[in-house]
Order: sequence, then C-alpha cells, then structure tokens
Amino acid sequence: MQITNIVCAFCGCVCDDIGVTVEEGRITQVKNACVLGKAWLMGHSAESDRPAALVEGKPASLEEAIDVAARVMVQARYPLLYGLSSTCCEAQRQAVALADLLGANIDCCTSVCHGPSGMAVQGVGEPTCTLGEVKNRADLLIYWGSNPAESHPRHFTRYAVTPKGLFTPAGRKGRTVVIVDVRPTSSTRAADIFLQIKPGKDFECLWALRALVRGVELDEDAVADTGLTLAQLQDLARRMKSCRFGVLFIGQGLTQSRGKQMNTSAVFMLVRDLYAHTKFAAIPMRGHGNVTGIDNVLSWQTGYPFGVNFSRGYPRFNPGEYTTVDLLARGEADAALIVASDPVANLPRVAADRLAQIPTIALDSHESETTRVAKVVFTTATAGIGAEGTIYRMDNVPLRLRAFLPSPYPSDEEVLRRIVTRVAELRTV
Ligand code: SF4
Repeated sequence: MQITNIVCAFCGCVCDDIGVTVEEGRITQVKNACVLGKAWLMGHSAESDRPAALVEGKPASLEEAIDVAARVMVQARYPLLYGLSSTCCEAQRQAVALADLLGANIDCCTSVCHGPSGMAVQGVGEPTCTLGEVKNRADLLIYWGSNPAESHPRHFTRYAVTPKGLFTPAGRKGRTVVIVDVRPTSSTRAADIFLQIKPGKDFECLWALRALVRGVELDEDAVADTGLTLAQLQDLARRMKSCRFGVLFIGQGLTQSRGKQMNTSAVFMLVRDLYAHTKFAAIPMRGHGNVTGIDNVLSWQTGYPFGVNFSRGYPRFNPGEYTTVDLLARGEADAALIVASDPVANLPRVAADRLAQIPTIALDSHESETTRVAKVVFTTATAGIGAEGTIYRMDNVPLRLRAFLPSPYPSDEEVLRRIVTRVAELRTV
C-alpha cells in the first residue's frame, strides 16, 4: 500500500510531502524524505515485541504501571516532568495538566537548546514569518550558527534556498545566502558569502550590525575583536537594509555560545531596527520534530515556554532555577516523568546520574538509556506513525500527523491522560 503526504516528525522542518510504501505492517520504501527522515521512518517500521509496560524491569499490565507511576509522582516532594519535544500537542497538554495537578515542575528540551530564544521572545518579542513566506518572498537568507545541511537536510531545498516561489521566480539565482559561523561546515558550500567570526563574539558582531544599520559610524578598532573586518560588516548591513525580504535563521551556535539570550535578543532587536528600511524576520532553527509545539502548549497554558514551576499552585518561570539540568544537578527533583526523550544519554553526567538515583517514569516508543534506568517504562506508539496528533513546524505552523501504521501500543496522550486520572483519584483519597 502506498501512502502519500505523510508528515515527517523527526526535525523542525516537519516536511509534509513524504510518501511511504507499507507492506505487511512494515514501511518498506520512503519517498522525498532526507536521510534523517528516512532512517526515522524505516527505524519505526517494525514495532517491537516489547511489553506495553515494565515495572522494575518486569512486564506489567498497563493498569498496574499507571497506578505505580501515579503513586510515584503523588508521593514525590518535587516531581519533574521533562522531554515532550518528540510527541504531539495533545500529549503535551496532558503533561501540563499533570504538572498543574501535582504542583510539579515541567520543562522541555528547549531548556537545553533554544531556551535563550524563548527568553528573548519573552523580553523583546518575536519578529517572525512562516517558511511559506520565506519560500515565496525572501531574497536574503542569513544562517547564523547553524548547519542545516546536516541538522535540517531539506531546509535549503524545500523552504529557503533553492525553491521557486510566487515572488522569487528565479529560485536560487534570485537569493543571496550568507552563513555566519565560527568554522566552515557542510552548509558553507551552499553560501554566496561565508563570514567566519571568532568563537564567542556573536553578540559583538550583532551589536556592530545594529550600529551600522542605524547609521552609526564605526572605526576598524571597534570591530577588531570579532573576526570580521569593518568592510565585511558594512557589506552585510548594506545587504540587510537593501533586500526586499530578509530572514535570519538562528542556530544553536548562537543560542549556546557566550551571551546566550543576549545574542538572540540582539538578533530580534536588529530585525526591529531593519523594519525602518525593509521587511525582515528571524526564525529559530528548532531541532526536534515538535519542540516548537511544547513551547506553544506551555505558553498557551502557563504564559511561559519552558522551565515552568507549579509548586505554589500557579506557574512561575525562572531559567536556571526551574530548568531540568539545574534541578537534577542540585539534587532537588526526587521523581521524574520523561516523555519521548532520552535525557540520560544527552544531559550532563551529574544530571543524568540523578535520574538513575530517583524513581523515573519513561514513555518512549523504543528502548533508550533513560528507559534502562527507569522504574516504570511505557512503550508508546510513535506520534506521526502509530499515533495521530498535532505538531508545530519551526515557524509555528501546526500540521496534522496521521497514524498510518497500526500500533499495538497506546499513545503518549492516552498513557498521560490515564496517569492524570489516577493521580486525581489518589489525591482525592
Ligand atoms: S528535513 Fe527533517 S522533517 Fe524533512 S524529511 Fe528530513 S528529517 Fe524529516
């Protein structure tokens, strides 16, 4: 059976033109996806024979596992919910409801990737646009601290660099592509201009660009420490002011280097300065398939995009205090529920070790470092393959995921909803 217009939920590009061939319950062919999307889809084609639930490493019924998980979370003094970037918005809503009910701390992978972008949005506002506008209008593209050729392989071809759009009929020939980074990457081959800045000097470069865009005269000494010459910065500022529609894509090289949220705030303020001259926008290059979704869901429901604490009965936001690495490294969280994420493999050692010491509950479609240390494990259907739902592309456009391969496992949403119900019952008792 051939199925068309599948949505790939692996990375923030969320390509919705994927075709698959399904034979005997397995995905045997994938069309249009990049190497990452293809591996993701093919890797989930054979649902394993893992039990739907494990408690202390032993197979358990779903009811029993839900009861144990609910008791762990109710008995904890400082429970933590984390992950949520590779599941659908419907499951994310249940996680927020659970955190609210428990008075828990809820955080997502944003806190270790684009948290600084979220903080800049809170402080400055987000001058953004959709990837459709990029395709149809943008004639200047700047990738800053990002290597999409490896992290988002179809970003160039589907949304930004090469496609022909309504007002960009010449496609690649009608666009100028600038890459700013601390070293050449596989993406720099696709650029018209590569600007190699010194590591940790992003803020200085952006602030110099702000000055130049606002007509402030700078001398060579003022930018001597950035790795760029004044002429290079003047040329970029001139191109930014004179383009018809420019977009700056914010990579993790910008959010995770010295300056962090000050760097992304500087980008947003630079874009605001450019409004005096032309149309410009900035879009964070979000990594996980639905990490934009959890930021949206948390923001609708609490006002904050990540690192939210409910312990006083209302949401509070304080990165560094309520973010997962900090809570675990300080030994504060005493139980954790992890959804569709593998923090034991990805977080700093001290935080990962804490997860192995406290009762941890993990929901995942496959075995991981985190499921190996978890007290309770739920095997769930993969959102976008075995479970339907809503997902947000990196430009905040929601798309619908279909369940095209029947799964014997419940969805993340179903497991979380049942834990919410059981927690409510236990708290009543
Ligand atoms: S670019 Fe991202 S969303 Fe598109 S096919 Fe590749 S992994 Fe999937």
